[in-house]
Amino acid sequence: MTATIGKITYTTTGVDMNLFHAEFDRALAKVRSEIGKTYPLYINGDAVTPAGEPIVDRSPIDTSVVLARFGAGRAEHVDRAVRAARQAQAAWSGMGWAKRLVVMRRAAALIRERRFELAALMSIEVGKNRMESIGDAEEAADLIDYYAQQMEDANGFVRPMHNLTPIERNVDVLRPFGVFACIAPFNFPLALAAGMSSAALIAGNAVLFKPATDTCWTGLKLYEVYRDAGVPAGVFHFLTGQGSDIGDPLWQHPGVDGVVFTGSKDIGMRIFHGLSGNFVKPCLMELGGKNATIVMPSADIDGAAEGVMKSAFGLQNQKCSATSRVYVHKDVAASFLEKLLAKTAAISMGDPTERDVWFGPVINERALARFLGATEEARRTGTILAGGGRLTGGLFDKGHFAAPTIARVPLESRLFQEEFFVPFLAFAEVDSLDQAIVEANRSDLGLTAGFFAKDQAEIDRFFETIEAGVCYVNKRSGATTGAWPGSQPFCGWKGSGSTGKGGCGPYYLQQFMREQSRTVITG
Ligand code: NAP
Repeated sequence: MTATIGKITYTTTGVDMNLFHAEFDRALAKVRSEIGKTYPLYINGDAVTPAGEPIVDRSPIDTSVVLARFGAGRAEHVDRAVRAARQAQAAWSGMGWAKRLVVMRRAAALIRERRFELAALMSIEVGKNRMESIGDAEEAADLIDYYAQQMEDANGFVRPMHNLTPIERNVDVLRPFGVFACIAPFNFPLALAAGMSSAALIAGNAVLFKPATDTCWTGLKLYEVYRDAGVPAGVFHFLTGQGSDIGDPLWQHPGVDGVVFTGSKDIGMRIFHGLSGNFVKPCLMELGGKNATIVMPSADIDGAAEGVMKSAFGLQNQKCSATSRVYVHKDVAASFLEKLLAKTAAISMGDPTERDVWFGPVINERALARFLGATEEARRTGTILAGGGRLTGGLFDKGHFAAPTIARVPLESRLFQEEFFVPFLAFAEVDSLDQAIVEANRSDLGLTAGFFAKDQAEIDRFFETIEAGVCYVNKRSGATTGAWPGSQPFCGWKGSGSTGKGGCGPYYLQQFMREQSRTVITG
């Protein structure tokens, strides 16, 4: 049955939705039948249950539902995993890239095979709607295949070099660093975890994987995929634990050769500042966003309003790429706002595992508190135009539900600068494109940016001057969201990333390897 349903991305249309929903319902029932178990850490393939209180994984849709319990790992578990990883990594690297790719492509295939169960689980664990959930699973598989193809296209990054004399043979190779710590966020718990870890593995590194506390169950499913695909036990370790307990010991361990992290700027900068005193280690960071969309008078205003609504409130704004501020030229501000408010009022809200619900809960109590803080400040310093509080009554009382909120606030407000990662959109009118660009670039963050205009000179100016790594023009399906492997490299500028070369793109994989120049004198 699933074979007849094609690939589904975040913006797919034209699939047989009845078939899709039937498969999703079946998978939901299966996942629900597995609720309530307790799971260990997996170190070197061994199930390890730490002493002490476990992590309790609850659904944000209904917090009375305990999805699962996970071991709360600590420094001693990191140490054990590092020792096993250091031993196993040489053989993984030594087996050669072609054999590694067979294993990794099997992992991608397994994700596709299991995509509905994975999606149903993410829907319950994160509060994603059905399309967002399946997109997360499909993206994970595509990321693995994309990096695998790069390895193959580059012939394993083995490259003959110029021979200076007739008696020498020069070759350049990229080789793995060794052991990577891979630390993932909650919001794309499969795609981002798979993207980071698969690049490290394809390059020949061993990986210590820590999922976010709120999404340990999806993390476990990634571990199972790699295990079933044939990644050796010592090469990929599953380490659950609170970031505050296991996080620092993980990246601070002297046996860790590099860190790949996706998450908030605060934690990312903590790792960057503390990573190593002795020598420089690779520190690949994809961090937060405070993404601006700009709307000009020449734009299709309905398309702009649709694109902003979708990017501001898709996944409850909990995408690093989400639009969280919009600057609209004063000549079209009224008509844009009218359409945006109408589209926002029409959002279907509720339990996102249900087929017709688009908007679900935020991830946890902390997110809800951030939301209430932002709305309270907006009420004090500006005007709430839509939403502005918790959603209450019926099923909303069971979970972390916040209303899609739009507020007009002063341009100098911190609500235009700081990431809140909740369904809160700051709105302001501007006099000109120049002013809009200045305002958009005032943030320390520079991940995505959206622009709506038909004038080519304005479009060119936007691309030339905006300080963001992922830029979209006239994207009705999501002003700043929807990046896909091989189509939109996902690279944060300024405070949004450390490397200048993003996941999903052609320069990512190489960052998990170091160069070795090999000269052999033959004469
Ligand atoms: P977060 O709070 O920064 O957590 C990210 C990960 O870091 C989690 O696994 C967390 O564990 C762990 N952690 C916490 N303290 C740590 C420490 N001292 N050392 C090492 N790890 C530690 O982020 P989040 O709330 O999960 O995700 C949302 C953030 O990620 C937003 O800022 C969003 O913009 C960003 N993001 C960026 C991208 C991108 O590609 N640029 C993509 C997605 C998300 P616990 O869960 O146990 O605390």
